[in-house]
Amino acid sequence: MADWAMERRRQGISIALVPTMGYFHPGHLQLMRRACELADQVVVSLFVNPIQFGPGEDLATYPADHQRDCQLAEEVGITAIFLPERQEMYPAGFASRIQVEALTDSLCGSTRPGHFAGVVTVVGKLFNIIQPDIAVFGEKDYQQLVIIRKMVRDLNWNIKIVGHPTVRELDGLAMSSRNTYLSSTERQSALCLSKAIVMARQKLLAGTCKAATLLSELSDFILSHPGVTVEYVSLVDPDTLENVAMVERGSLLAMAVKIGNTRLIDNAILA
Ligand code: AMP
Repeated sequence: MADWAMERRRQGISIALVPTMGYFHPGHLQLMRRACELADQVVVSLFVNPIQFGPGEDLATYPADHQRDCQLAEEVGITAIFLPERQEMYPAGFASRIQVEALTDSLCGSTRPGHFAGVVTVVGKLFNIIQPDIAVFGEKDYQQLVIIRKMVRDLNWNIKIVGHPTVRELDGLAMSSRNTYLSSTERQSALCLSKAIVMARQKLLAGTCKAATLLSELSDFILSHPGVTVEYVSLVDPDTLENVAMVERGSLLAMAVKIGNTRLIDNAILA
């Protein structure tokens, strides 16, 4: 992969990278299409990164269908898929982590310790192997996007980070490879997240500005759905990811819930 990318850089061909864990849905494919518009050639990495999963999470059961993924990615027009083996990425004795401070403490960082260190370490390795000009990430994982932008700035990688809006099902559910875990009743309950975004926007328009008030109403609404437990519902500044006391246009609503055994996240800038 490194030789392939180096040869293209030598020829002046620009490269965009789309890092993924595979089991593609239309959200992934939109990121790939965007990448195709932004660079001469596009590499999609497909790697279920073990070091970003905590104990008891779904590393062993994460859905996979490499053949289908390769076919879909080819149809979109990407140039190459990078499918490294775990031992290649993490040979015996691997002992390093990239750490981004502060931004990794809140939201998913508080409930998934070590998760973002795992994410930025693998993304850093992919950046070093491929040295792309551009990398495209989804706003679905908003905190991840903010952290990667920060890492790239702090560590002087000359890579343009592009965020792509969340792609949703017709009924509002944010697309996710993990949606395949949901039973049909859980799938109905999962709509609590996108509905909470609509509700937050309406309440803000109607004049509810106090974060504590809005959060308690949103949590009650989410919990009224069968089988749902809340990991966090937060209103934060979109740059620092710190809680806000008063909500304003541009504040970020970020949520993580469990529906049965499935952990789902969603977020939106309230405009
Ligand atoms: P994953 O394979 O879930 O790690 O996701 C790979 C990339 O696709 C990440 O940058 C995600 O943020 C992005 N992504 C996943 N789901 C969506 C979605 N529904 N809309 C937009 N981007 C997404």
